[in-house]
Amino acid sequence: MPEHPVHVILAAEGVSEVSVPGTLRVFTPVQRLTRAGAVMLVAILLAGSLLPIPIIHLIGPPALLVAGIVLAVRQLRAGVRLAPMHVSCPKCGYRNRIGGGQGWHNVNHPMERHCDSCRRILELRVETDRLPPPAP
Ligand SMILES: [Zn+2]
Repeated sequence: MPEHPVHVILAAEGVSEVSVPGTLRVFTPVQRLTRAGAVMLVAILLAGSLLPIPIIHLIGPPALLVAGIVLAVRQLRAGVRLAPMHVSCPKCGYRNRIGGGQGWHNVNHPMERHCDSCRRILELRVETDRLPPPAP
């Protein structure tokens, strides 16, 4: 899994932005396919486990299969993931947890997020000299 050093920037209107060094992990196509397959396999196993339960077997398995397909497609699209880190809110100073999770399609454009404490809208940017190309 290739890793790139980046600067993670949280910005808000009227205050100076906060920049913290971070690590951006780029998924290879094989890793993306493996992650999507694992998600779909878990969804199929959970759906199969609900089949013997009366009434639940009418709604549970189809819902789990649809959710598995949606999550598997998201895993296929996620090309990069920021390593888990903490960045202080530029407004209130609360240390927001950023990164980890399913990942993003690409990080070449600013993303909007809310502060975990003050709920203000913050702009999240990931900057580096050499960003990986967007996932196909
Ligand atoms: Zn805040």
